[in-house]
Amino acid sequence: MSVRVRMAPSPTGEYHIGHIRTVLYNWAFAKKEEGTFVIRIEDTDRERFVEGAADRILAVISLYGLDWDEGPNKGGSFGPYTQSKRLDLYKDYAENLVEQGDAYYCFCTKERLSDLRKQQREQGIPPKYDKKCLGLSKDAVKERLEAGESHVIRLNVPENRDITFSDVVYGDITVNTNDIDDQVLLKSDGFPTYHLAVVIDDHLMEITHIMRGMDWIPSTPKHVLLYEAFGWDLPIYAHLPNIKELGGSKKLSKRFGSVYAIEFLKEGYLSEALLNFLMFLGWNPGTEKEIYTLEEFIEDFSLEDVHKTDLVAFDRKKLLWMNGQYIRNLETKDLWQKLKEWSERFEIDLGVGEISEEYILQALSLVQTRMKLLPDFMERTTYFFKEPEIPVELLTKYAKSPERTKEILEKFIDLYEGVKEWSVEILDQTSHELIEKHDYSPKEAFMTVRVAISGRKATPPLFDMLGLIGKEKSVNRLKESLKLLE
Ligand code: GLU
Repeated sequence: MSVRVRMAPSPTGEYHIGHIRTVLYNWAFAKKEEGTFVIRIEDTDRERFVEGAADRILAVISLYGLDWDEGPNKGGSFGPYTQSKRLDLYKDYAENLVEQGDAYYCFCTKERLSDLRKQQREQGIPPKYDKKCLGLSKDAVKERLEAGESHVIRLNVPENRDITFSDVVYGDITVNTNDIDDQVLLKSDGFPTYHLAVVIDDHLMEITHIMRGMDWIPSTPKHVLLYEAFGWDLPIYAHLPNIKELGGSKKLSKRFGSVYAIEFLKEGYLSEALLNFLMFLGWNPGTEKEIYTLEEFIEDFSLEDVHKTDLVAFDRKKLLWMNGQYIRNLETKDLWQKLKEWSERFEIDLGVGEISEEYILQALSLVQTRMKLLPDFMERTTYFFKEPEIPVELLTKYAKSPERTKEILEKFIDLYEGVKEWSVEILDQTSHELIEKHDYSPKEAFMTVRVAISGRKATPPLFDMLGLIGKEKSVNRLKESLKLLE
């Protein structure tokens, strides 16, 4: 039987970075097994439904460079892949369960249910439906349905039975049915609950493996009961550890940085680096190797190597480091391409104006190895594209006195005005000759020139920078800086 896995987003908000981890594992597993990766939109919770969220979730999965074989915008022979388009089906299955005695109609009002919960809380017992409506006769049910009374369908959970299912990652898990509520399967608005719809769809879509966050483990026994009631085979379960903030307790938190998948892209992380980082949030090849292409991940990934732990730590420093590695290893022109796409997508000004691409690529190549995030490009190159502001305190910081700063600037203006061939080698050679002749220390002289040209104390190597900025502009900037001291 060929492998079929799925990701089943609920459009109740934006996708978190952890969701992308789970998409990645499903996607890679399908690729490895030459199976099929399905996306299904689980939009049955109308109270939490967020307009447009499904489209944004699909878009962000694509932006991370992952795709699906069947699902919305793609089709497939098991559709529709959006649960709100499958409502009749769930109703039929729920009614069949009632026929079989595995489910029953419940007419209890919100008030009764909340009184019941209150009583149970007072008695110190966990809140659970008391099966009152299970006692209704068939005729009574029929009458109330015909009268149009508001109702739900509930799962008839048997008493005191151990339900065991096995999970590839966490092993055998057993829950006693006394701890399981008579779950609502079909709501009064005619929509199924997640529990009913997920079981029916996973079965009908012939899903073989369910890989999802471990926070779904407590729901799984209910699903197992449903599979039994329908007489269907269980899929293989592989729950995945949840992701927590490094140094934090339970969840990723805004306090530490981005949480939503789209935010990381906007901040200037590359999707390749993010995926590489996410690979290790719950899996490890057991070697030192950290930089993994998707192909290598597909090759090495296995469910057996998924960590059996509650929480894996999200190390933001590591992610930043990894992004820097990916930026550094790109061809400069590819990095420029990514910068352009990023600026268009997120409407961010790269600050390069109308300058030639050749010039931009040279500026980029000078800062590339120091970039960790895409916006570092703007931060590190602005003075290549715009006249910088020169802070006077910084300009005069390196020579012993303001007079000496002036003198250094004057000498370099003279020197550079006379340079015939404006090349990095000539600049390097003549500048060194100049400082030797006048007995300037390299630091005082070159830092003064650096600040006079860029307004910064950290830049790419001085002569590379001067070489690119060009003779006229460089001399002008030295003169402007000199004026600040007059
Ligand atoms: N719709 C559920 C969610 O939003 C899917 C859970 C599952 O994978 O079964 O996470």
